[in-house]
Amino acid sequence: MQTDSYRHKGMRRTLVNQLREKGIRDARVLAAIEAVPRHFFFEKAFLEQAYQDKAFPIGEGQTISQPYTVAFQTELLNLKPTDKVLEIGTGSGYQCTVLLQLTPYVYTIEYKRALYEKATMFFKKYGLKPFTFHGDGSQGLPQHAPYDKIIVTAGAPGVPKSLVRQLSVGGALVIPVGDEKTQKMMRITRVEENEFTKEEFSAFKFVPLLGKSGWESEM
Ligand code: SAM
Repeated sequence: MQTDSYRHKGMRRTLVNQLREKGIRDARVLAAIEAVPRHFFFEKAFLEQAYQDKAFPIGEGQTISQPYTVAFQTELLNLKPTDKVLEIGTGSGYQCTVLLQLTPYVYTIEYKRALYEKATMFFKKYGLKPFTFHGDGSQGLPQHAPYDKIIVTAGAPGVPKSLVRQLSVGGALVIPVGDEKTQKMMRITRVEENEFTKEEFSAFKFVPLLGKSGWESEM
């Protein structure tokens, strides 16, 4: 179990100020980032990197997302405390832990077994209670649908139809879409049963979404 010192809290406050300067406005999101000790997701040797606004390798060719990206996607979700949210790409569990500051109803699915197991152990160790799943989340998690919000934390070649079908009316999907080099952040809102709106935001660089509606299938 790692400890959260005054020094770490200070570094987090500095990081939150940087995110505010970069345009993150939602006070609840900034408070969530400030509340989660990002260094808990890092090996001891890399603690200094934990509060830089950068992505970092977590093994299996994957990364813990950059704090700005986590804040940007979380802001777009506009979570209410009663929202049920699905995260595709648990990875380190950091984004999931940020989501848990905003709603207790978090479902998260990870493709890579080793990362799924590590994140599940992490949640248990710190008394966090998301619903964790191992498998291909590129087509969602239909057995627990509908979701008020869905967040995809890997770059997709397109918007999977199965994901928008798993949104409740009024719900929204936040997903980076593009080629393997760069992706535009998109928000798809289900305004009525059969009516969707699409918004496009700035460009990001994510690891590729794997699986049936992703770039490749390894399973
Ligand atoms: N949310 C993560 C975090 O906070 O650390 C970000 C992790 S990384 C940017 C994206 C993750 O998506 C990787 O762990 C990768 O294995 C996972 N992934 C890729 N394709 C997936 C799929 N089809 N289903 C579930 N997870 C997937």
